[in-house]
Amino acid sequence: MGARKNGVRPLVVKGNNRMSDQKIIIIGAGVAGLAAGCYARMNGYRTEIYEMHSLPGGLCTSWERKGYTFDGCIHYLFGSGEGQPFHQMWRDLGAVQGRAMIDHAVYQHITDGQHTLIVYADPDRLERHMIELSPADAPHIRALCDGVRQFTRFDMSAMYTVPAR
Ligand SMILES: Cc1cc2nc3c(=O)[nH]c(=O)nc-3n(C[C@H](O)[C@H](O)[C@H](O)COP(=O)(O)OP(=O)(O)OC[C@H]3O[C@@H](n4cnc5c(N)ncnc54)[C@H](O)[C@@H]3O)c2cc1C
Repeated sequence: MGARKNGVRPLVVKGNNRMSDQKIIIIGAGVAGLAAGCYARMNGYRTEIYEMHSLPGGLCTSWERKGYTFDGCIHYLFGSGEGQPFHQMWRDLGAVQGRAMIDHAVYQHITDGQHTLIVYADPDRLERHMIELSPADAPHIRALCDGVRQFTRFDMSAMYTVPAR
């Protein structure tokens, strides 16, 4: 198992092509079960994934009805762009190859028809905009945006480390 430059050990064991006698049974073919199955296979385990639905994907599924595609699931992935902690995991799983990662300046618009809250990804811009909308709430808005700024410095690679044996 090799070390990556940021000190995070990848989940994949390299150079073990022998299939183990041990089998891992996985209940549920959502992204978690499918990813567990992929990593287990990459590490030489035989796997069986049991899914009660007729399709894999779990919550991360879309379907067609009367000419429309209902795609209720993932519209953002944090920490997954090139150079970010989860990118290698998505590459291992073959999910991001050939796909562009887009960093949107605006996350969403929330409106009551008269006023619109624009949720900017940049916390400084978000703070200015929210205070313009509601100056009386400035202390709470600053506290919220300070929390957002702190979170941008959170090292998410800790969530990708292999536990010590
Ligand atoms: C509307 C919506 C928007 C979302 N947006 C985002 C987003 O933008 N970004 C993001 O990161 N995440 C988002 N999520 C969350 C993300 O989709 C889920 O966290 C993720 O798909 C969960 O995967 P999972 O494998 O843990 O569970 P699930 O997807 O729930 O998979 C569990 C699977 O197990 C099966 N199962 C359960 N019990 C049994 C059993 N006894 N036997 C056999 N099979 C069983 C189920 O049928 C299901 O297929 C969103 C979710 C929803 C619903």
